[in-house]
This record gives sequence, C-alpha cells and structure tokens, in this order.
Amino acid sequence: MTAKILDGKMVSARIKNELAEEVKQLKEKGVQPGLAVIIVGNDPASRVYVNNKKKACAEVGIYSEEYALPEETTQQELLDLVEKLNKDNRISGILVQLPLPKHIEEKTVLYAIDPKKDVDAFHPVNVGRIMIGDFDFVPCTPAGVMELIKESGIEVSGKNCVVIGRSNIVGKPQAMLLLHQNGTVTVCHSKTQNLSEITKKADILVAAVGKAKMVTADMVKPGAVVIDVGMNRDENGKLCGDVKFDEASEIAGAITPVPGGVGPMTIAMLMRNTVKAALIS
Ligand code: NDP
Repeated sequence: MTAKILDGKMVSARIKNELAEEVKQLKEKGVQPGLAVIIVGNDPASRVYVNNKKKACAEVGIYSEEYALPEETTQQELLDLVEKLNKDNRISGILVQLPLPKHIEEKTVLYAIDPKKDVDAFHPVNVGRIMIGDFDFVPCTPAGVMELIKESGIEVSGKNCVVIGRSNIVGKPQAMLLLHQNGTVTVCHSKTQNLSEITKKADILVAAVGKAKMVTADMVKPGAVVIDVGMNRDENGKLCGDVKFDEASEIAGAITPVPGGVGPMTIAMLMRNTVKAALIS
C-alpha cells in the first residue's frame, strides 16, 4: 500500500477534544450548547446515527435531548415540535434525522427550522449563504471532507477537484466548499459521459455516489487525494465505500477508509456547528 490513510476516527477525536475544551470555557461564561435530535419511526440505520450523535454530545459536553417519535406522527405534530424547539433557549441546534416517513414532506419540516438553529445547514437560507461564501454552518459531511483534505497536507488552491455526486446534502455543497478554497471543480453525476476520463485528471477526488466500489484504480490519478463518502454494503453485507479501497490505495497519494473515514468526521462537524449555534443564537 502506498497511500497515506486519512484516519477520520483520529482526526474527529482530536476535533471533539478541542471542542470539549471550548465548551468548558463557554460554560464558565454561562453558555451551554444544546442539541435536539428528532427521529421519526424505526429505521435501524437512523437509530445508529442518532445514538452516535448523542454519544458525541456527551463526549464534548453538549446538552442533548432526543425526541423519538412513532412512525404514525403527523407532519403537523412534527412541525409543532420544531416550533417549540425553535423557541427553547436550552436548544441551540435542531437536527431532524432523515429520512422521514413518506407521509411527511421533508422539505416542509426542514424549512421550519430556525436557520440560526439549523446545524445540518439544510435550510435554504443557509444553503444560499454557502453559495455566496458567507456562512455560519457548513453541511457536516462536506465540512468533514474538507478537514480530511487538510489532513492530507495538499493545498486545494489551483488543484483539479472532481466530485462524483450532486446531491443537496453532499455533492453540491462539497463543490462549493472546494470552489471557495480556489479549487477548479468538476461535478459528475449519473448522466456524465466518460467519467473515468474526468476522474483520472483529479488531484482531489471526492466520491459521493452510493454505489459500492464503483471507483476503481484505473479511475484514479497517481498521487491523488481520494475521499470516499459512500456508505454501502458489499455482496457479503460488509460496510464499504464507493471506492475500491484495496486497489485505489496502491495508486492514490492519500485515501480515506470506510468505515473510519468521512463517517466520524460528519459527527464531529455536527458538534462544531452546535457549538457555533450556541454562540450566534
Ligand atoms: P444521493 O443518492 O442523493 O446522490 C447520489 C449522486 O450520485 C447523484 O447525484 C447521482 O446522480 C450520482 N450517481 C449515481 N450513479 C452514478 C454513476 N454511475 N456515475 C456518476 N454519478 C452517479 O446520495 P447522497 O449524496 O445522499 O449520498 C451519497 C453516498 O454517501 C451514499 O452512500 C450515502 O450513504 C453516503 N453518505 C455518507 C455520509 C457520511 O457521513 N459518511 C453522509 C451522507 C451520505 P444524479 O443526480 O444524476 O442522479
């Protein structure tokens, strides 16, 4: 193996330690960051994510409340809860775990969150602010990716950056963050032609597709930084990324593992946004 492993577990632990210190100091000044996490229904993956977020809050010293609502919760009941939390002084950040049950329109719920408490940065006000480069909150996964790129020691400025995926949650904000750091950014998606021709030119390649091991070694430029956002199950049910790690790590200069790469960083960035929310509310 030639690539440097970008260890998300280690970097996220470091960031959480720094945040814990900051929270300690904030508490001495009477500021207590608080996160409300809402989960609707019984999706097992969502349950794991929510548990991890609560655990991280405890590590950092953030006060947290969980609202575990039954599957049959109505949209109005959920909106009423969001409204109550918008007004609650103990709560600086509100997170609604996605996906929501089909009878609830995600957009309506996400738009109801006070933008100052929108620690996922999904509200259009925050999305727009990211676009113009004047933002308080960065969506957690793209922010975590930027931290891992920093860890690689590679400067983004002037580099060819390729993002595979254009979702509102990962791909699009990722492209914006790379652009803000003066990367030359190409965004690929399911209609992109000659994908490997494009990825092979990437100094920094971010895969956020959701297709197990689709990025193969022949799609990677020698020495590139490869960040794998994907969280998939392989043919044996084992967690894996979008990148064929074994072969890509022979070519790349730095690469993230799955698990232990972007996943833990996402949670650390949520903690960072929650601390920030306590300062701006
Ligand atoms: P989406 O399904 O919303 O988006 C996937 C994107 O990939 C789309 O833009 C789609 O294109 C594109 N795509 C699909 N097939 C291809 C292909 N063959 N070639 C090129 N592009 C393709 O997923 P998300 O962005 O929400 O998530 C992506 C992955 O990241 C998932 O595995 C998810 O589980 C993981 N994830 C991990 C997180 C973490 O913390 N580690 C957090 C969030 C997500 P089009 O727009 O044309 O359909």
